[in-house]
Amino acid sequence: MISSLFENNLRWAAGRARMDPEYFRRLAGQQSPEYLWIGCSDSRVPANEIVGLDPGELFVHRNVANLTPPQDANFLSVLQFAVEILEVRHIIVCGHYGCGGVRAAVDGRRHGLIDHWLQPIACLCRRDAAELDGILDFEARVNLVCERNVLAQVESLADNPFVRDAWGRGQPLSIHGWIYSIQDGLLRDLETTRQGPAGARAATLKAQRGRPRRRRPE
Ligand SMILES: [Zn+2]
Repeated sequence: MISSLFENNLRWAAGRARMDPEYFRRLAGQQSPEYLWIGCSDSRVPANEIVGLDPGELFVHRNVANLTPPQDANFLSVLQFAVEILEVRHIIVCGHYGCGGVRAAVDGRRHGLIDHWLQPIACLCRRDAAELDGILDFEARVNLVCERNVLAQVESLADNPFVRDAWGRGQPLSIHGWIYSIQDGLLRDLETTRQGPAGARAATLKAQRGRPRRRRPE
């Protein structure tokens, strides 16, 4: 029953206020999350819940198959606001095993409009076709593409002008690639964290070595 959602809401709000009378007043004042979460729309992957964070602690963007398309105005608006206004310290791209979006891209059949949205994953499947064709179990193939998709989104983010500008300003910002298992509720870090543009450290060291010493002010 749809009305039960309002009853749930009343119970939830009352419970929060009982635990912390200032809770809603504080949240209404401002939000200052440290994290931007880019996850799948799948109802079984509730962002705040699986990482144990309260409202106000996680800025969330979700779409089918946790994509970061560089031409999607919705995603870009979220990204710019998170990076430039909220100044989040971490961006987390979180995929999940058994993703229906990824499965639709892997199965090679036509599904309608969603095929356009999933095109980046279909391209990824074509890129890795030789390896994927060798995996006979369909679900295992889907799960490998779930991981590869997260890696591709992290790389895409690391190339995004908003992110590159933030790094250029010296703003601390890390991009993480994680994957979640609906089977056991556990997250896994795909160890693809980026904290600057590729080759940034080498370039910075070279620049520092070549830079003349600054004279002390008189
Ligand atoms: Zn999904």
